[in-house]
Amino acid sequence: MAIYHKDCPQCAAAVATYVRRCACGFSFRDTEQAEAQDLEAIAEEELLYQEYLAARARQASMTTAESRSTPTNVPMA
Ligand SMILES: [Zn+2]
Repeated sequence: MAIYHKDCPQCAAAVATYVRRCACGFSFRDTEQAEAQDLEAIAEEELLYQEYLAARARQASMTTAESRSTPTNVPMA
């Protein structure tokens, strides 16, 4: 059985990581809060990355627009 366990700080019993409340009544709320903060940090990083990509896309489209506005092989007639 490859189930991850965590130790209950109150009764020292090994409980599965997905268990939110130990049989002794201890709640793993603090641990969950820490995990939620991690997720928040990851979401923030992804947001920054998306903004970076959007900036890169804007830059690329600006470069494309520039090369379009200065055509080299368009006949003047
Ligand atoms: Zn316990």
